[in-house]
Amino acid sequence: MSDAPFTIRGTTGDWEIVVGLEVHAQVTAKSKLFSGAATAFGAAPNTQVSLVDAAMPGMLPVLNGECVRQAVRTGLALDAEIHRISRFDRKNYFYADLPQGYQISQLYHPIVGEGHLDIEPEGEAPKRVGIERLHLEQDAGKSVHDAHPAMTFVDLNRSGCALMEIVSKPDIRSPAQAGAYVRALRSLLRYVGSCDGNMEEGSMRADVNVSVRRPGAAFGTRTETKNVNSVRFVMAAVEAEARRQVDVLEAGGTIVQETRLFDPDRMTTRPMRSKAAAHDYRYFPDPDLLPVELSETFVADCAASLPELPVAKRSRYVEALGLTPYDAAVLTAERETADWFEALLADLVRRTGKPATELAKPASNWVTGELFAVLKRTGGGIEASPVSPEGAAELLALVADRTLSGSLAKQVFEAMVETGDSAAAIVDARGLRQVSDTGAIDAAIAGILAANTDKIAEYRGGKDKLFGFFVGQTMRAMAGKADPAVVNDRLKTALAG
Ligand code: ADP
Ligand code: MG
Repeated sequence: MSDAPFTIRGTTGDWEIVVGLEVHAQVTAKSKLFSGAATAFGAAPNTQVSLVDAAMPGMLPVLNGECVRQAVRTGLALDAEIHRISRFDRKNYFYADLPQGYQISQLYHPIVGEGHLDIEPEGEAPKRVGIERLHLEQDAGKSVHDAHPAMTFVDLNRSGCALMEIVSKPDIRSPAQAGAYVRALRSLLRYVGSCDGNMEEGSMRADVNVSVRRPGAAFGTRTETKNVNSVRFVMAAVEAEARRQVDVLEAGGTIVQETRLFDPDRMTTRPMRSKAAAHDYRYFPDPDLLPVELSETFVADCAASLPELPVAKRSRYVEALGLTPYDAAVLTAERETADWFEALLADLVRRTGKPATELAKPASNWVTGELFAVLKRTGGGIEASPVSPEGAAELLALVADRTLSGSLAKQVFEAMVETGDSAAAIVDARGLRQVSDTGAIDAAIAGILAANTDKIAEYRGGKDKLFGFFVGQTMRAMAGKADPAVVNDRLKTALAG
């Protein structure tokens, strides 16, 4: 991990990257921001469009309280200032998929002000990124260019869906930080439950603002690369755009403030249009909507409804459960994984009566090792796990009470995945119980020693490595079921002879 700032090496010296991200996150809500139309992804075109969304004359928007609640909960999770009074403005522009001729947004008085997000960029020191604001706005419809050779179709299903636009400060300094920011924000939104974070379906997309400067100099002119829809692409867009700007500047050119597009095939950016200055949109307060006033109780209820958030969870796993920061980060990256792990651990504590501090490490190892390997193979998330947390706890309890060794537990788990049977049923049916009985183990050892007198002599003569041979032979004689600790112990005694 390096504390040195990330720089781009040019032909005339080093350059620093400056990035600010504007993330659009679709609010998880059954209906749209100002209408009762449904928001489910994947419906047939134009089947989720109310008269408001189609901008029929005389229709009036009615604010969806659930969207306000989700925006406030998200603001609180970002440790941000909640504005008790906010209002909606019209952002006027013409586009085929925007039937109103304007988008309702919040320019002057956003619902959420300054906050911050802590990130852990790969290979760099952890860092805090400032949040400038979070505001609510409507999404536009979608122009469909590839359904007909000569015509463009318009699908208004998305028209009017609620978006949270979350604007970072220009605090990000490297592609890794940009990637970590999007990952941390996505994880936080999913914990809060205010956005599903599904970047492939477009429910979360980032506008990537990039400029370069000499280290420590004033900010340079930035470009904005629109609608980048994966963590990998955000990182690639930062990298490619910064490199392009350095090349332009070193060749004696200047950067123009413009909107660009990311080309995923070439992993580069290209110009889209030169950016219209903000006043071109003729923003003005929407006369159809009253200001939004939040009561203290409403904000307090929002705060009380938040789950334990990733940063707090991570430090609890380290401090109270004794897990490593790495394991804690892996287990808390997704809320579903953390919930699953906690359900497993609680059940394991209940079954064994042992303290969580003692069980957390083996449980964590099992989840991130055995379970993740199976999930990778079966190709689902933890919500599609073939075993339940309780089923896993039953298995790990059998390890904790030494009914099963680690390697027997692996076999039992494989059988659980294959058959769907419980660990106890498999252990009974297949006789996979570990043998700790010294009588049986001593008998096996006696047989092995009798057949290998030459090796005993070598061992006693100083060839220590042979101990492994005796362990292996004994385990084989016991069909892999002997308790390895007991085998080691009894062999040492027997060989000391
Ligand atoms: P606008 O209102 O034109 O969209 P903002 O000042 O609100 O501009 O900034 C939009 C985004 O651009 C923010 O995320 C901000 O952090 C980022 N940004 C602003 N200046 C720069 C810069 N010089 N380099 C990189 N990003 C910047
Ligand atoms: Mg903007």
